[in-house]
Amino acid sequence: MRQNRAINDLGGMIDLSDEAIWGKGRGSVETSYDLDRTSEGKRLRTLLPSKPTTPTRLTWVLANRLELSFDETATLAKACWDALSSRRAGILQKHKAGLVIDLDGLQIEKGQDRFQCEKCGRVAAFDLAGVCLAFRCSGATKLVETLGSDGENYYIQRYKSLPSAAIAREHTAAIGPRLRNVIEGGFSRHSPSGLPSDVKIA
Ligand SMILES: [Zn+2]
Repeated sequence: MRQNRAINDLGGMIDLSDEAIWGKGRGSVETSYDLDRTSEGKRLRTLLPSKPTTPTRLTWVLANRLELSFDETATLAKACWDALSSRRAGILQKHKAGLVIDLDGLQIEKGQDRFQCEKCGRVAAFDLAGVCLAFRCSGATKLVETLGSDGENYYIQRYKSLPSAAIAREHTAAIGPRLRNVIEGGFSRHSPSGLPSDVKIA
């Protein structure tokens, strides 16, 4: 869902329609997900395919890489969807024809293992029996070596460097165009007026 930008816009703070940010053909405020196609909607994606012969990425990985039957795939997908979409979980929220990730509910953690496919390079935050999660990729994944220290992290280096510096464009890519122009214009004029003091420092 994250890969396909099925996310909320944080009350208008993120411009989901701007293809300059998300890539050609990927800018849309309509994208959402459902378990299967019980309702019609523009850019409504589903975990389960309408026909077993035309798999989705999820069912392809489960069936072709982990050798689950279609019924097992559907049972697993439904159990996951029920857990993710429950209101109590606070992960997804209603949007357009389906559900999207509620960005307000995301938490940032440090030090999670990551797994990269040796064939296509896709990186995942969890290991699913060592198989790549990309659609129609037959690669195997390997634990990504962590750098171990902050020394090689681009952002940590930049924030720690002296004199302190930040590039406004790096931090405004996902902000709506009007607010982005105000912020980037302010930085280029060396007078980010109207911004709270912590933003000026950043
Ligand atoms: Zn792969």
